[in-house]
Amino acid sequence: MRVAVFGTKTYDRRFLDAANAAHGHDLTFFEPRLEEATAVLAEGFPGLCAFVNDVLDAPVLEKLASGGTRLVALRCAGTNNVDLAAAERLGIAVVRVPAYSPHAVAEFTIGLMLALDRQIPRAWARVRENNFALDGLIGRNLHERTVGVIGTGRIGALVARALRLGFGCEVLASDIVPDAALEAAGVRYVKPGVLLASADIVTLHCPLTPETRHIVDAAAIEAARPGLMIVNTSRGGLIDTAAMIAGLKSRKLGGVALDVYEQEADLFFEDLSSEIVQDDLFQRLLTFPNVIVTGHQAFLTEEALAAIAETTLASLSDAEAGRPLRNQVRLEHVRPRG
Ligand code: NAD
Repeated sequence: MRVAVFGTKTYDRRFLDAANAAHGHDLTFFEPRLEEATAVLAEGFPGLCAFVNDVLDAPVLEKLASGGTRLVALRCAGTNNVDLAAAERLGIAVVRVPAYSPHAVAEFTIGLMLALDRQIPRAWARVRENNFALDGLIGRNLHERTVGVIGTGRIGALVARALRLGFGCEVLASDIVPDAALEAAGVRYVKPGVLLASADIVTLHCPLTPETRHIVDAAAIEAARPGLMIVNTSRGGLIDTAAMIAGLKSRKLGGVALDVYEQEADLFFEDLSSEIVQDDLFQRLLTFPNVIVTGHQAFLTEEALAAIAETTLASLSDAEAGRPLRNQVRLEHVRPRG
């Protein structure tokens, strides 16, 4: 199939080209992000491959449909950047990579948690300046601390297990569908309010939906235990950034580690080191000594990139051969259950 690949980075191309040897699709790589202004590049391509910050809203999908695109293959798990109702109306099938490597994200989450709590980035910055003083670097043991996991699907369940069985934490969880195996491992499901009021650290692993948008807002921070640390490797929109900054300024929040950010589409995945970043909220976040930000890289392992490429190309092959699309996303799939 002729496929327009948007937002291509060198690593995307490397892994897609390698996996494509077994599929033989005609891949054209475009560096720009997909948005209304760049949608014209997809004209005449029945297949389109996109990533998390590509824009697939109704106006873009309409342009794609009139240009002949019939299949959008997301090389990611989240679908919050796609107007699925518009895609269905326009007859564009949407497939995704539901689980490329939950371990990649879960392991990175634990890494961020430790880096934040034990102040590893600050310590490294000091040592590079031959400052070996330890003042201000006191952390806390993870062992026996209370960690709240919001969303215990593929990634959240791995994080909860690692914390419970590996570190010996008290793990509280919140999910609309509790996981009995996790409960058997000693994870306790509680209401979100109880989780926030009891946890020393909260880690977010639910998808971004209208229901979960700003699940961490001013009221949630107000209800939280003083000194709460938050780790977010899911989606930036789960946290109200302004409320988080207020919580950091008042010291209600003890620290924040983010791999995702509400307005990341204008920043992440690009080298902006010579630019003047215009996002004042983001710049304010970077000034706190107890904030760590990474640029949406939790997924970035060899294993995950290979799995993403293979699943994406297999979906394109299925579509071309008229086989059922195993990883198709339909509107009813992303509506909350229960
Ligand atoms: P998943 O679908 O397996 O799990 C999501 C869980 O959240 C489910 O158990 C679901 O029931 C639960 N949930 C839904 N609504 C909820 C609510 N209101 N409150 C509590 N729980 C709720 O998804 P996953 O594979 O574990 O991925 C989780 C998220 O991680 C994705 O949605 C994606 O946004 C994000 N992600 C980030 C990266 C990265 O590189 N940073 C990579 C992959 C995925």
